[in-house]
Amino acid sequence: MKKVLSRFMSVAVIALSVALLAGCRSNTGQLTQVSTINALMGGAYQGQMACGELLQYGDCGIGTFDALDGEMIILDGMVYQIKDDGKVYRPTARMTTPFACVVDFKSTTPADLKPCDFSQFIKQFDKMYADKHLFYAIRIDGKFKVVVTRSVPRQYPPYKKLVDVAKSQKEFTIKNVEGTIFGFRCPEMIKGLNVPGYHLHFISKDRTQGGHVLKFELQSGTLNSGSYNIFKMILPKTNKALKNIDLSKDRSHDIEKVEK
Ligand SMILES: [Zn+2]
Repeated sequence: MKKVLSRFMSVAVIALSVALLAGCRSNTGQLTQVSTINALMGGAYQGQMACGELLQYGDCGIGTFDALDGEMIILDGMVYQIKDDGKVYRPTARMTTPFACVVDFKSTTPADLKPCDFSQFIKQFDKMYADKHLFYAIRIDGKFKVVVTRSVPRQYPPYKKLVDVAKSQKEFTIKNVEGTIFGFRCPEMIKGLNVPGYHLHFISKDRTQGGHVLKFELQSGTLNSGSYNIFKMILPKTNKALKNIDLSKDRSHDIEKVEK
């Protein structure tokens, strides 16, 4: 009887360990993405994943919201929504996203940044991190002379393509502001799935202003960055949102127009 009981106990311990291991997610070295940029470009604005679930894959990231209702920036596990009224909102965990990228952000050694604008920063970062095949997360905390951002207006079906929506985007010139830029440098090979090159979002330190970064002039700041060699893409479960979208189309030109 004792023998049977101890065997039962060891089986139970093994089963419990397996269950615990399976439940313990590790996102180390991994960038997780919801849907694809081409789906978004084509007008797939229906939310596919709740913000609460998205946070299981990372504590920092960027994206947008259901119905393209503003720009998303996630910092230190907090999700922020910058709508086209220029204001910052705190979405609920149940609010969904049609496109987002997140990582568990672990920085390498922080670097002090000299005053620079967006294109000077790109040159500098490209020099520092020449591994163009990897994903890089970029976080700049600093004082900015100016940050020019944009946000997009909430859409109503039937959805227009993003390149047409972007024509009515709102731009914000935020001067003399402290805040954080977060985003990614994605490899060129990601074309069609994500935005190749730099894609950055901004939020002010007082969490009142932000958006998708078009231009910036940094006065002084700190750069933290991390590289990611694992790419996880979570696609919509059904084709409901994608039905009328040609996913094979090369939208590089439109992406360039919308993002840069
Ligand atoms: Zn953006």
